[in-house]
Amino acid sequence: MAEPVPKPDNVLVIGGGWAGLSAAVELTHNGIPVTLLEAARQLGGRARCIAFGDQRIDNGQHLMIGAYQAMLNLMITVGVDPVTAFLRQPLDLHMRGLRQPELRMRARKLPAPLHLALALATVRGLPARERLQLLRFSVRLLRGKILLDNDITAQALLLGERQGARVVRALWEPLCLASMNTPLAEASAKLFLEVLRRTFTTEANYSDLLIPKDDLGVLLPEPALDFIERGGGTVLLNHRVEHLLMDEDGCRGVTWRGGELNSRRVILAVHPVMCRRLLAPHPALAGIAAELAHLRQEPITTVYLRYAEHVALDSALQGLQDGLGQWIFDRRIAGHPGLIAVVISGRGEHLGMDNAVLGEKVGAELAKLHLDWPAPLAIRVIREKRATFAATVDVDRHRPAAPTPVAGLWLAGDFTATGLPATLESAVLSGQRAAQAMLGDAAVEL
Ligand SMILES: Cc1cc2nc3c(=O)[nH]c(=O)nc-3n(C[C@H](O)[C@H](O)[C@H](O)COP(=O)(O)OP(=O)(O)OC[C@H]3O[C@@H](n4cnc5c(N)ncnc54)[C@H](O)[C@@H]3O)c2cc1C
Repeated sequence: MAEPVPKPDNVLVIGGGWAGLSAAVELTHNGIPVTLLEAARQLGGRARCIAFGDQRIDNGQHLMIGAYQAMLNLMITVGVDPVTAFLRQPLDLHMRGLRQPELRMRARKLPAPLHLALALATVRGLPARERLQLLRFSVRLLRGKILLDNDITAQALLLGERQGARVVRALWEPLCLASMNTPLAEASAKLFLEVLRRTFTTEANYSDLLIPKDDLGVLLPEPALDFIERGGGTVLLNHRVEHLLMDEDGCRGVTWRGGELNSRRVILAVHPVMCRRLLAPHPALAGIAAELAHLRQEPITTVYLRYAEHVALDSALQGLQDGLGQWIFDRRIAGHPGLIAVVISGRGEHLGMDNAVLGEKVGAELAKLHLDWPAPLAIRVIREKRATFAATVDVDRHRPAAPTPVAGLWLAGDFTATGLPATLESAVLSGQRAAQAMLGDAAVEL
């Protein structure tokens, strides 16, 4: 196939993760063709699909929720029907334990906040006193009574709200790690509260779990590519931008090894580490680059275990309370019967194990929970070392807005100031905001 030809003077979008794709689709939707440059051989960035034998799996099992409105709208724009793309189910947290008793919290199909109230009132596996304190906390959350002048750790917040040891360990710690990839002891209480508010206190279906029925490539990157190209845009893979070009009027384009493209409208939608590297040499952007240095990166590890096809969980998703693994997904719903994905967010002893040992230990944990499962046929461990920034106390102070001090340059990415932790929703929102900021800038000729 012939290499696509870059069109001079198109809007440039650098980075084909979900943020860059979101920006490119937003512009295309507004009749503005883009040229998107992506360093890798494929689109999707930190949410992409890869090969596991003859199957396509994800670089990390992703879970979405009903509150991801920007993401769902983006999918609709590029022609993906969320109704068929996801298994959507009311929140059902089934936390199984190797040593602890299990905990189960299930939302009911009722209007908000009744759905949550009933879920909390009927949570199984908590001492009565802890259940009462949980209810009390939730009522305060629903009534908007929890206000923080200064950011503190999520752990301090929960202590102040008299959450008991069991509910913290079995519910809050896993929810905090899953939604922010940061342990309670370090996580920003403000961001955690924002996640809880968006998920639980608005529409009842915002707390629904959305489990992808296909791989991540099909969910957005591939249909987005079609959409951008149909709108007159160009996508160039294997194009790693090395420098931003500047002159007295602002940003004037970019270079990559062996090429240069000029444009007075550039959206930079790369990983924060790369963003910092590209911004740092330019005095007007050095301040943003210095702030980005404060964003610590946290890993996420996914262990895929392929079993015989009859092996199945009794639900698409389960939590694991006291093992190495934290969440277990049955990929049967993605057409892979027997494929189990185990997610481990953040740091921990697993980082010191090699893949073979980690795979074996996670397999042994599953065998303890499911005595009738045979040994796995194959195991694949995927480690994303820089999966997300750590959502620590006051992290929002270091997150840049979409507009920059340089004319013609905007930023996008899950790390920009969206008010959300590093998620697909944050990435998509950031891309839309960067595109909208460009569209709304009177100085920009489009
Ligand atoms: C294992 C894992 C599990 C996760 N689980 C969840 C989950 O369950 N739910 C959820 O909501 N979120 C989850 N996330 C977070 C989510 O994937 C990210 O927030 C999101 O994908 C970030 O998108 P982005 O576009 O901002 O950045 P990226 O995906 O990093 O995109 C940046 C793109 O820019 C490209 N690029 C970099 N440098 C250059 C350059 N110099 N020139 C050109 N291109 C360049 C990269 O190749 C990449 O494609 C998970 C992440 C990981 C890694």
